[in-house]
Amino acid sequence: MTGFTPTGKLHLGHFVGNLENLLKLKSEYDEFLLLADTHAITTLSKDPKVIRQHALGNILDMLSVGLSEDEVTYYIESEIPEIYELASLFSMYVSHNRALRNPTIKDEIKMKGLGDQFSLGFINYPMYQAADIMCVKGELVPVGKDQEAHLEQAREITEVLNKLAGREIFPLIRTMIGRVGKLVGTDGNPKMSKSLGNTIYLSATEKEVEEKVMNMYTDPTRIHATDPGHVEGNPVFEYLDAFGKEGDRGKISEYKYAYTKGQVGDVEVKKYLVQILNNFMEPIRERRKEYDNEERLLAIAQKGTQRARGETQKTLQEVKEVLGLVY
Ligand code: ATP
Ligand code: MG
Repeated sequence: MTGFTPTGKLHLGHFVGNLENLLKLKSEYDEFLLLADTHAITTLSKDPKVIRQHALGNILDMLSVGLSEDEVTYYIESEIPEIYELASLFSMYVSHNRALRNPTIKDEIKMKGLGDQFSLGFINYPMYQAADIMCVKGELVPVGKDQEAHLEQAREITEVLNKLAGREIFPLIRTMIGRVGKLVGTDGNPKMSKSLGNTIYLSATEKEVEEKVMNMYTDPTRIHATDPGHVEGNPVFEYLDAFGKEGDRGKISEYKYAYTKGQVGDVEVKKYLVQILNNFMEPIRERRKEYDNEERLLAIAQKGTQRARGETQKTLQEVKEVLGLVY
């Protein structure tokens, strides 16, 4: 099980952070993919109506990378009210201090410049996330590095409930961090993020990829192509490493060497990156054409949600029985 906040389009960071693992594991596991549309309101409170479009768009992005509706189950948070009931019950077992101490919450407040203007729902999110996962009894959760702490809190909640029940009603959540746990943004920010606008979308056209890459942040200490450059922390090289195929490794190493010696300019390396990224995105663009139809996407979302809701209702009943809330 894993989830996405539909606050924007999916990007390269999502691919290396978790989509890639979902692709690898899809034949081995029964995969549930959540669109956390309610949570997206914490970012888009002034313009909530765009969230629905992003949710369908994110499903399209995932279908395009190769997660077909026959292999995975897509579900929409706001269409499963039992998730809120579970979250509300879970919140009774989490102290206010513990919720505020969650490092991901702290990081997001800082990164998004929320100051003290964040909603109660935002602080509650770890409880919702626990409900999003446990409603379908998710046991393995592929995520990017920034989600590790959230999951720790979800794990604490499962432990409390299992203890109360005297048996394992919930599996102990295992996290699986992607090959690149946190892909850098095109602006050099340590995280490519929908909310920060420093992204390259999985749906980007060839031209958009070119524009993004040519304007990308590189090594600020380098003024002339003959100055020795830095490869570490340089998004151009991080993307080359992340998206180059096996056969590209030799050339990437040569470019790295030349860059540190001041023997190659940014423009040449960037042009090479454009080529690498467009090669990577070619099959994604092809599949996208096949699925790009709102009715089809809605049908996929409804079918998956119906299945996940059935699972959630069973889970909620079980939790209520553990708490003795049976009348
Ligand atoms: P937002 O800024 O609105 O939180 P986001 O870009 O972080 O958006 P999410 O929907 O919150 O996207 O994240 C979905 C999943 O993708 C999570 O598992 C998250 O860890 C992972 N992820 C997001 N951005 C990156 C990134 N730059 N590198 C690796 N993984 C990422
Ligand atoms: Mg996020």
